[in-house]
Amino acid sequence: TTTSEKHGFQAEIQQLLDLVVHSLYTDREIFLRELVSNASDAMEKLRHLESTEKDIQDSGLPLEVTISADQEAGTLTIQDRGIGMTREELVENLGTIAHSGTKAFLQSMKESGSTPAGMIGQFGVGFYSAFMVADEVQVFTRSWRKDGEGWVWISDGKTGYEMESAEGLERGTKIVLKLKEDQKEYAEEYRIKHLVETYSNFVGFPVMVDGKRVNEIEALWLKNKSEISEEEYKAFYQFQAKAFDEPQYRLHFAADAPISINALLFVPSENPERMGFGKVDGGVALYCKKVLIDADPKGLLPEWLRFMKGVIDSADLPLNISRESMQDSALVRKIGQVIVKRVLKMFEKEASGDPEKWQAFYKKFDRFFKEGIATDFAHREALAKLLRFESSMTEAGKLTGLVDYLTRAKEGQEVIYYLVGSNRDQIEASPYLEGFRKRGLEVVYFTDAVDEYVVDSLGDFDGKKLVSIAKSGVDLEDAELDGEALSEEETQSLCEFLKAEFGDRVTQVAAGKRLVDSPVVALTPEDAMTPQMRAMMKAMDE
Ligand code: ADP
Ligand code: MG
Repeated sequence: TTTSEKHGFQAEIQQLLDLVVHSLYTDREIFLRELVSNASDAMEKLRHLESTEKDIQDSGLPLEVTISADQEAGTLTIQDRGIGMTREELVENLGTIAHSGTKAFLQSMKESGSTPAGMIGQFGVGFYSAFMVADEVQVFTRSWRKDGEGWVWISDGKTGYEMESAEGLERGTKIVLKLKEDQKEYAEEYRIKHLVETYSNFVGFPVMVDGKRVNEIEALWLKNKSEISEEEYKAFYQFQAKAFDEPQYRLHFAADAPISINALLFVPSENPERMGFGKVDGGVALYCKKVLIDADPKGLLPEWLRFMKGVIDSADLPLNISRESMQDSALVRKIGQVIVKRVLKMFEKEASGDPEKWQAFYKKFDRFFKEGIATDFAHREALAKLLRFESSMTEAGKLTGLVDYLTRAKEGQEVIYYLVGSNRDQIEASPYLEGFRKRGLEVVYFTDAVDEYVVDSLGDFDGKKLVSIAKSGVDLEDAELDGEALSEEETQSLCEFLKAEFGDRVTQVAAGKRLVDSPVVALTPEDAMTPQMRAMMKAMDE
């Protein structure tokens, strides 16, 4: 004989369900992620038990999640072979709020007295998210313990639930969703497949939709480096990034402190932005224990790293932290900081380890590093080390960096000289270089349209000011020059004459030491904007 028992929901759950059902929460589709995660958790627990327990109900069942949809009936069924639940566990787990995220959600709701949109997603409501798409949920379950029977739990997500014993169940849990009239799309197989591919592709158990396995890819980032071949890395990169090129660099690491992080990141070898495709979307996805949290989490990594691809998995994340709240989460910010540090260290190592490879890469990706210098103050110095450019001491087409520049600097040289121009030939034909060449002082050539802006943001490097040699105020030591110099008097009257001739078009005419062959050169006053900068500001205004 089966007797049906009625239970009322705990007040908090009713309150929660009311919000879930009536919220305009846009990410309804995450319900499937929640249910698949629960199924996966239950099987993970079973796998654990198997190592210690001899007596497990239906011990031979394959550990997989099976999803099936019945369009006519408008139902969606998610079945697992996990630990299942006893009657007490059903009451405990689905009738009271244990989930810490859900508790925090209710707490903050009480404190704020309102539910701003996105709050549900921020904290996650686990199992109860099923009621976003279903007006009735049935949970058939049988525990791994051999002494119990099967149970079915049924609720419309309003006031309470009914339970009764159920015959003929195998171990595990089967959840049947009676989809709401306007949520029938979730009974369509292609939609379900797509959701599993999107959110649950790396779940550690097979997820079967209509008898076929949908999640194909292993969670490579959780494996040991030594167990992964180059080919596997490459295949994973191409799958994850939807890319066809070879990854240029790779960063695979695990850290426990201060946060648990498993990261597998790639740097592509091609830069679509350079090929005129417009700004690329971020390609580093955030996971919590193999479950996707967000494919493109805003605020995790700085904008300038948007070319990176791969996966960051942190077991410390609350499973369903939402997209909306991602940027405000201190934890996400922390993770971001750890990653950026590691990435910069990796770049520095690669740049010094194989300079040729770095230069080839840098020529395609330079704009990202420059953007970083202009926008990411905290990492400015580290990024500046990665800059590459030609200089008066490189061959045409070969690049050097600021660190190397300083190793070549003259004794007592307290500044870094640079000149902005449209290309090497134009720079080398200008009279500005003369005095620097004569004295063996290296001059950096900045030939990219954004360079001047970048140098302006940077200001100095390793305590040495970056100084434009097209500006006034550069102090040079005396040098041996051919020919006879004008007397001081002659010089002064020539300057006065020229000033009178040019009138308001110049602020000052003065004698200097920077010319060797040319008689005169026009400089920008030390504090003024250069012509290039003015042109750029004007272009930005239009
Ligand atoms: P969380 O997964 O964060 O604990 P949920 O609301 O998603 O929160 O689930 C509540 C609890 O219900 C789980 O902790 C688990 O004990 C139980 N549960 C949910 N789904 C299953 C399942 N498929 N098999 C076994 N237990 C489950
Ligand atoms: Mg859950």
